[in-house]
Amino acid sequence: MKSRFASPFIVALLVGTVVVRFVADTSWWRAGIAVLVAGLMLRVGWMMIGGLARPVPDPLAPGELRKVKLTYRCSICGAEVRMTVAARDDPEPPRHCLEDMDVVAPVE
Ligand SMILES: [Zn+2]
Repeated sequence: MKSRFASPFIVALLVGTVVVRFVADTSWWRAGIAVLVAGLMLRVGWMMIGGLARPVPDPLAPGELRKVKLTYRCSICGAEVRMTVAARDDPEPPRHCLEDMDVVAPVE
């Protein structure tokens, strides 16, 4: 729904200019510039944070997944895992003990 009034960003800039004008006891021109710069920095920072918060993509449909038979071993602690389904034929190895696991043997 589009508001008939000015955007919240413009309203915040105008209110901020009035507040800074009287709190800092400076000219309208300086207060307006300060509030505009502060608003732009806030907006850029907010957009950067929003870019980090990208949602995890939906999992592929079961028909689009590949059946694989791969066994991985952790080179540090020796744990083994078997991967049976992956999104690609040559999936990236899982991690264990903060390291990529080694492929033991593709079971055919
Ligand atoms: Zn491990």
